[in-house]
Amino acid sequence: MYSFKTVSVIPELPEKLNRLSEIARNLWFSWHPQAELLFREVDSYLWEEVNHNTVKFLLYVDTQKLTEAANNPEYCNLYKKVMNDFDQYMQGETWFGKTYPDQNNQLVAYFSAEFGIHESNPVYSGGLGLLAGDHSKSASDLGLPFVGVGILYKQGYFCQRINREGWQEAYYSFMDFNEMAVTPAVHPKGGDVIIAVRLPGREVFVKVWQLKVGKVVLYFLDTDLTQNSREDRLLTSKLYGGGQDTRICQEIILGIGGVKALRQLGISPTAWHINEGHAAFIILERIRELIQSNVPFSVAREAVRASTIFTTHTPVPAGHDVFSADMIELYLGYLYEELKLDRESLMGLGWDPGRQSFNMTMLALNHAAFTNGVSWLHGEVTKQMFSHLYPGIPLDEIPIQSVTNGVHTETWVAPEMRQLFEKYIGIEWSRNISEPSQWQRVYDIPDHELWESHQSLKGRMIKFVQNNIYRRMERNFQPLELIRECAGYLSKDILTIGFARRFATYKRAYLLFNDKERLARLLNNPERPVQFIFAGKAHPADQPGQELIKMINEVSAEERFRGKIVFVEDYDIKVSRHLLQGVDVWLNTPRRPHEASGTSGQKAAINGVINCSILDGWWPEAYNGENGFAIGTDRDYESDDVQDREDASSLFDLLEQVLVPYYYRRVEEVPKEWVRRMKESLATIPWNFSTERMVKEYTQRFYLSAAQRGMDLAKDHCQLADRLQQLKNTLKQNWQQVSFRSINVEQPEELKVGAEIYVKAEVDLGIIKPEDVVVEVVYGKVSDHGLDRIMLMPMALVRAADQNSYIYETNIVLIKGTSGYTVRIRPNEKNFAQMFELPLVKWVDSF
Ligand SMILES: *Cc1c(COP(=O)(O)O)cnc(C)c1O
Repeated sequence: MYSFKTVSVIPELPEKLNRLSEIARNLWFSWHPQAELLFREVDSYLWEEVNHNTVKFLLYVDTQKLTEAANNPEYCNLYKKVMNDFDQYMQGETWFGKTYPDQNNQLVAYFSAEFGIHESNPVYSGGLGLLAGDHSKSASDLGLPFVGVGILYKQGYFCQRINREGWQEAYYSFMDFNEMAVTPAVHPKGGDVIIAVRLPGREVFVKVWQLKVGKVVLYFLDTDLTQNSREDRLLTSKLYGGGQDTRICQEIILGIGGVKALRQLGISPTAWHINEGHAAFIILERIRELIQSNVPFSVAREAVRASTIFTTHTPVPAGHDVFSADMIELYLGYLYEELKLDRESLMGLGWDPGRQSFNMTMLALNHAAFTNGVSWLHGEVTKQMFSHLYPGIPLDEIPIQSVTNGVHTETWVAPEMRQLFEKYIGIEWSRNISEPSQWQRVYDIPDHELWESHQSLKGRMIKFVQNNIYRRMERNFQPLELIRECAGYLSKDILTIGFARRFATYKRAYLLFNDKERLARLLNNPERPVQFIFAGKAHPADQPGQELIKMINEVSAEERFRGKIVFVEDYDIKVSRHLLQGVDVWLNTPRRPHEASGTSGQKAAINGVINCSILDGWWPEAYNGENGFAIGTDRDYESDDVQDREDASSLFDLLEQVLVPYYYRRVEEVPKEWVRRMKESLATIPWNFSTERMVKEYTQRFYLSAAQRGMDLAKDHCQLADRLQQLKNTLKQNWQQVSFRSINVEQPEELKVGAEIYVKAEVDLGIIKPEDVVVEVVYGKVSDHGLDRIMLMPMALVRAADQNSYIYETNIVLIKGTSGYTVRIRPNEKNFAQMFELPLVKWVDSF
């Protein structure tokens, strides 16, 4: 094929509307319904036709229609209002600006293999991408200095069609970047930004694009350039497509290429956030940069670590990306020389002894000052998963934290709900989403008003679903009678349960189908019927996931289920938005504890939809007994089969005995108790499970201190980094010399609250200096796995006993709940980011 240099020329807009192109090229419109209206009002048919792609819309819209709009005073008022809102948004005061007025030299760079911002920009597959998109939007809202780095996949993730037999068919369409909101990034000296990334035997050229999301910019990498070979042009073509080789190439482009791209753009981040292991190669490139300026490897590594944040999303070890040592050597072997490392040391940066391979999660974990999981429970599971790296360190003190995911509230709230919030919470409700007190005002919404808004959303959702099924049936040449029938599928008056998510097996879409008789009784109860809507894609390589989709489609065609169980094809942001704004219940049935967080239920909650979920991911933190429903308990199971059986029967019991009766109990047409739950959910969930709360947390807990440490360690040719790595080496190499010589305890006869215990310890430190350790009493509650709710009391150094040995002492006061205490020695350095940055500890053997 010939290739042309292509350009996109937005046709000349009427003078009065000339800033429409500015709105079209900033994804700010995606959470401002009035801005979307500016397009929809001009030509609603075209707006749907171009799948809400603003740039494509302007390229194809009939000029006549634009002229008409320009002459319509109502439209012009809307236009003025939107422009005014946009300018205020872009220039207005922000949380970050107000809270940290002297920190405008900060810049967070956020690396992610996928970003889910809007349906017009389909470079995401699921939760990970949506989280990155919502994170970016809140970074913009909060005024956080922030850039994102990702890949611009020419074919995105696949689109899903369900064929006549009910199987999923995956197809890819090529995107034309010239018809999208992205534009080529511009080099500070003018012109395109093109970088070169080294791959075996060649260099691959990568073009950098940019996408404006409110105040922040996302940079996307693209290898589809004529300078590259045919194969290399396809490297960035599919998200999670191809085999291991494509995967490592994409990760090299994202990690190594991403850093190079920012440098070319003249961008200097102060904190580097790795969103899931895919992007962990940024570490290698940043180390390489420092080595180029004559910093020794181990010092460079320390300096890079200081400003790195890593968020892991996968609670199952098999979900982490690994590559064989041979592959690493093939693709990154050139780094032996550049990093001045031998093979073993290079592999050691991310070696996973369990899987005998190079593990991207390990690479990130070993080089991030801050690591976190994405819900409290996931944080705990992650600590357990990596506890072998921290021998002797209590689970509570393993330096892996958690920041619970949230969603970008304004993106997911339906216009009808937004109106209610404006009316009852206040016109400024969206200025301070994470402030809990304002959400108490949802109790002021009259029951019937909330219910009517919900019912109207439900009606719209049902039309959308009917339409989706209608199109599929027509395409599949289904009999005409059947096609006509689907206009009667689903009813607004029936309790509607939605289940839409990736069809990964651990999400267990099959749970209800294990007892089809019971399911049929539930759905066909003449007084209290129930209907189900399913949607979701299975990765093309995931056979069991595809079988599941086929099974559900088959079941939905059975006479007794027809029109009561429906499957909506091609789950994406748009489908997701419709479903979770319009169903009554959002169902979530993961195999605990496999769901790291899950966020779709948080989106549903914003719209007054009730969550019914296994106590996994975010739900244990949110569920308070009144704001939704919990399936089963939070116990662990001996086998998957038992767990499935128990959870399925808990779910049926819950539906039959509690949830369904609740829904159908009406007072003057309104289900009062149900509406009370809707309000309880609105009052307790959206503020907390928002990316506004989440990004503030990342900023306060990680970004600012990572930036500070990054600067401190890098100052004066990495002087502090040098000192720290030397100290770490000394401690590691000589820790076996650390021991207790003796312990003396004086405690009163009766141990009650307020009693004092005197503890004296003589310790041997070998060549380690006393200022580099802490000797401390550790006390708390004794449980099966050691001490819980740990409290620490440092011991004072009294004097040196003889060479290398020292006397320490302290008094501890027993407080309520204390049931045990012990003594330990650990490294001490105020410049460590974490207490157990070094996994070294020496516990006293016996008293
Ligand atoms: C929110 C969202 C997800 C993630 O939701 P889960 O609860 O993690 O399944 C996935 N896909 C789309 C399109 C979404 O909008």
